[in-house]
Amino acid sequence: MQAYDLIIVGGGIGGSALATVMARAGRSVLLLEQSEVYEDRVRGEWIAPWGVAEVQRLGLYDLLVQAGGHHITRHITYDETLAPAEAESAPLPLGFFKEGVPGPLCLPHPLHCQTLFDAARDAGATALRGVRVEAVFGGSDPHVVYEIGDQTVEAHARLVIGADGRTSQVREAAGIVLHQDKPHHWFAGLLVEGAGGWDPDLQAIGTEGDFGFLAFPQGGGKIRIYGGYPLDQTQRFKGPDGPRRFLDAFALTCSPEDRHIVAGAPAGPLFSFFNADAWTDEPFAEGVVLVGDAAGWNDPILGLGLSITYRDVRVVSDLLKSADDWTALSFAPYAEERAERMRRLRFTAKLTAAIDMEFGEAAQARRRSLFERAAADPSLKIHAFAVMAGPESLPPEIFTDAHRDRVLGA
Ligand SMILES: Cc1cc2nc3c(=O)[nH]c(=O)nc-3n(C[C@H](O)[C@H](O)[C@H](O)COP(=O)(O)OP(=O)(O)OC[C@H]3O[C@@H](n4cnc5c(N)ncnc54)[C@H](O)[C@@H]3O)c2cc1C
Repeated sequence: MQAYDLIIVGGGIGGSALATVMARAGRSVLLLEQSEVYEDRVRGEWIAPWGVAEVQRLGLYDLLVQAGGHHITRHITYDETLAPAEAESAPLPLGFFKEGVPGPLCLPHPLHCQTLFDAARDAGATALRGVRVEAVFGGSDPHVVYEIGDQTVEAHARLVIGADGRTSQVREAAGIVLHQDKPHHWFAGLLVEGAGGWDPDLQAIGTEGDFGFLAFPQGGGKIRIYGGYPLDQTQRFKGPDGPRRFLDAFALTCSPEDRHIVAGAPAGPLFSFFNADAWTDEPFAEGVVLVGDAAGWNDPILGLGLSITYRDVRVVSDLLKSADDWTALSFAPYAEERAERMRRLRFTAKLTAAIDMEFGEAAQARRRSLFERAAADPSLKIHAFAVMAGPESLPPEIFTDAHRDRVLGA
């Protein structure tokens, strides 16, 4: 039988970051990751400025930059109701949202995971790959039964952390219920290479016809691109030539820069997701705490899953480091802060999806009206601060139906 302070199930961003921080704090950590190799699963590669600030607080920033982390410093919103020159005349600088953060940070997801997993091992965690977790038990004797090679091992700990993503086995074992919103739109993602003409410091979004796009350069002529489209177009990018048709969908009149994407080639799989939020009422039970997607996720339209995960890791690790005796430690402050954070981000994602990912004449007229009104009243775009500077950076009245009605002109 093995015994640790912490067993962490899932060695993605959340699990490996928490393992690193807690091992550096002198706690014994067992980190269990099922995959042998991190592959492109079309997951987040863009960390918002407030997420970068969390990375800095956790002492992981230099690690990510040394691994190739790349800051984006400008943003352009294109739209079918704007001439390209008008859209390009006022790029949004991204360096003023958080002091000491030059802008969002991009790093390929598989490399990001590997960098953190290696850091956890370097910090002294027992970090294992190719593990099959057979059973998870919380309660007063938290333990995990796992297989590695031809061995079955039972490991005990003071606490089990579920960092095992959307379909969390730990969440299920702990009986923590996941709530999910209705999907709003399809969201497909692809890594494109050979797009060297795209300015590596510039991110862009835009909507035209029945397609909304997001583009986040990764450096080296690579861009992570996403496309949103209506829920009734299930087959739109299916089939062997789906990735090529997806790239061709970026041939938009409103955004001439997208020609560099069309000229590129797929550098990974194309996956499509239903975009919606999911959340848990309390991301903990006796002997178990959930972090990252396991605890519920925000609609990826905002690109905040990594920032949310790093915030979780910071809040949970601060609590764990604050006490030697974890038997009396309450995770209620984490649950409270996370519930309000996710409520605000759910509101912001719904508003953003209504603006950027609804199609047709009425949606187009609403966007045009918003652009015109926001030129005179920039407060109509203030929800961008929740995305860039963190949901706590705005007063509570922004996250209300009254504000939504004002923005959408309802
Ligand atoms: C299309 C899309 C685009 C996104 N874009 C962005 C973006 O631009 N920016 C952003 O911030 N976020 C983005 N996100 C969200 C972001 O990717 C996630 O929120 C983030 O990866 C969550 O990290 P995690 O560590 O909780 O989970 P994951 O990244 O899912 O990692 C979970 C890990 O646990 C392992 N695992 C799972 N089950 C087990 C098990 N039973 N035993 C052992 N190991 C297990 C998995 O192999 C994996 O390594 C996006 C998500 C999607 C779907």
